[in-house]
Parts: sequence; structure tokens; C-alpha cells
Amino acid sequence: METIIKKLDGSEKDREVLREAGEMIRRGDLVAFPTETVYGLGGNGLNPSSSRAIYAAKGRPSDNPLILHIADREELLPLVREIPPAAEKLMEAFWPGPLTLIFKKSELVPKETTGGLDTVAVRMPSHPGAAALIRAAGVPIAAPSANTSGRPSPTCAEHVYQDLRGRIPLILDGGECEIGLESTIVDISRRIPEILRPGRIGLAALRQLLGTVSVDPAVLGKPDEKTAPRAPGMKYRHYAPQVPLTLVAGPDEKRAEYICEAARRAAEAGEKTGALICRETLPLYQAEAGDHLLLIPLGARSRPEETAHSLFGTLRHLDECGLSHVYSETFDEGPLGPAIMNRLRKAAAFDIRDLSES
Ligand code: AMP
Ligand code: MG
Repeated sequence: METIIKKLDGSEKDREVLREAGEMIRRGDLVAFPTETVYGLGGNGLNPSSSRAIYAAKGRPSDNPLILHIADREELLPLVREIPPAAEKLMEAFWPGPLTLIFKKSELVPKETTGGLDTVAVRMPSHPGAAALIRAAGVPIAAPSANTSGRPSPTCAEHVYQDLRGRIPLILDGGECEIGLESTIVDISRRIPEILRPGRIGLAALRQLLGTVSVDPAVLGKPDEKTAPRAPGMKYRHYAPQVPLTLVAGPDEKRAEYICEAARRAAEAGEKTGALICRETLPLYQAEAGDHLLLIPLGARSRPEETAHSLFGTLRHLDECGLSHVYSETFDEGPLGPAIMNRLRKAAAFDIRDLSES
């Protein structure tokens, strides 16, 4: 199958591109499209064979459910059994935007879309191209991130092309995604709302609105092999580059020493090491930088939104640098910290060296 890329640039031509893309989705084809979080791989969310095609194109395990994307509030009602008061508050405050809510699903939503669950995830994206595509399709669009399962999520059309070339007919290219991390997922189908995946909308903002909010333990650490995590996506190693990645926690100087020392040792074996660091600590590494140590600044600690924006692209880039091992600082500051660290921990397959007390 040939994969065509069509630009969405806000011009007159967009309308025709979106009309055709919407038509394709309605009749069962897949279309990758930009949102404010990451690129989505969209299909008709009410058509079981579209959902099956999404799993096949991504190579995604079929028990890992998809998110339904809608453009208008009226589209929610037919998809869910009830809208709890907590959901009303969250939608009022954060929709359209990077927040996915889990509802009890109605009969209309096929089990293929929800990975066999009785609940359904719904989001209303704020990206104008995404909203226009959903309206053009006239159906809720089921869309996971448009990457091959396990790879970092795509934040530009080129990433989608790298992963899904030849597997889908159309990619809509709307440039770089503004946020660069997937949506916050909150399960409001239970008595106490629970965060299943952290994103730009953080715990503090949710608590301010709802009072008590819990956090799924899988968000913070390695999921227990025995307990099934409730966001099934949480159980897989994810976002991972091919090159092994180790997170190093602890005081700045100490970890710079640790990483530089590891790079020196690897250099003796003729190997090249990478270091994902922030702009503030760059000077601590500069004396060591060279052929054996590649410094890759991920953004400034004072501007975590930069780090979020560049994270997935940087993780993809790592595999093109001829590195044998990569070490990363931790990026836990501010409201985006938990979301960034959640992705980094999974990318590192939970390999974390903590130098805090040693
Ligand atoms: P992606 O779009 O690639 O970010 O994947 C969708 C995410 O939403 C995955 O982590 C899913 O596990 C999660 N998800 C979708 N539907 C549900 C649901 N009904 N219950 C819990 N998590 C869900
Ligand atoms: Mg994904």
C-alpha cells in the first residue's frame, strides 16, 4: 500500500483534504492525523473491522483499548451509560483539550474498540485539524498514537511515516504537536476518580476541581506482574529506543560524575555513550564531552514544556547516533514532571540508578 502525506496548513485547500479523509474514515480506512498531544492513528470507532485494522497496523496487543475522539459534546451521550458529576466538571474545565475520560460504555461501542472492556475512553481534542476531521467523518474516531507499538509516540508526520509507511493510506501533516505527550487519562467510572496516565493536566489541577483524586500505582512505578493495570497500556515496555537507557536520580554533581565515569569506562571498550541532560546542568558535563560522550540536552528545567515537547523526538533520534548506552537525568520538576518521568521510566524499562543516599 502506498502511504500519501497531505499537508494541513490552514489554507483553503484543507477543506477538501479533510472532506476526503473524513470519507475514508467513515468507510473503514485508516488516517493518521495531528492532535495537540501526539499524532493519532484514526479509524471509525463504531466499526469493529476499523479497530482491528488499527491494532494490526500498529502491531498493538488487542487487549490495549483505543480512545474515541469526538468534536462536540452531543456526541458523547450515545457512547456512554452515564455521565457522572465529576465528568461534567472536568469536561467543563478541560474540553476540548488533553484530557481523556473513562466512562461505562454503551451498547453502541464495539468491544473491539475497547479491548474487550465494559468501559470506554473518550477525548475531545482542541487541535482544529483534528476537530474538523472528526466532523468530516461524522463518526467518533478511534485513535491510539500513530506509532508502531512500543516505539516512542509520533509528534510529527515524519515519525508516523517512519513507523507506518506502507501500512496506512494517508497521513495528514499538521506540523509538530504542541504538547508532545499523550493526554492525561482519568477514570471517572468509579467512586473515586483515578489518574491512569499522567499528562499535561496534572494532579493538582484535578484535585482542585474534584477534591479526592487517586493515582494508579502503575503510573509511578513498575507495574506488578500479577495485578492487571487498569490502563492496559501501562503494562508494556514502551517508548523505548533500541539502545539501552538508564535513568540516574540524585544530586546534579554526583550524577554528572557517575555518567562521565561510565562514559570513560565504555570508551576503553571503544563504545560511545549518550547523556540526556537539561540545559542547566550542561556545564557539569562539558569537560568530558567528546567522541566518547554525546550530550543531548532535552530542554531547560525552568521550561518543562520544552522537555515534554522534545522528549519523543529525542528518544527516536537516539538510535541514529551509534551509541551503546544512554544515561538520562530525571526530569521531575513542576506539574509536567510526573508525565515526563512516567514516559522516561518506561523508555528505560524501569532501569533506574538512584544516587541520593549512596
Ligand atoms: P494511546 O492512544 O496510544 O495513548 O493509547 C490509549 C491509552 O488509553 C492506552 O494507554 C489505553 O490503555 C488507555 N485506555 C483506553 N481505553 C481505556 C479504558 N476503557 N480503560 C482504561 N484505559 C483505557
Ligand atoms: Mg500509544
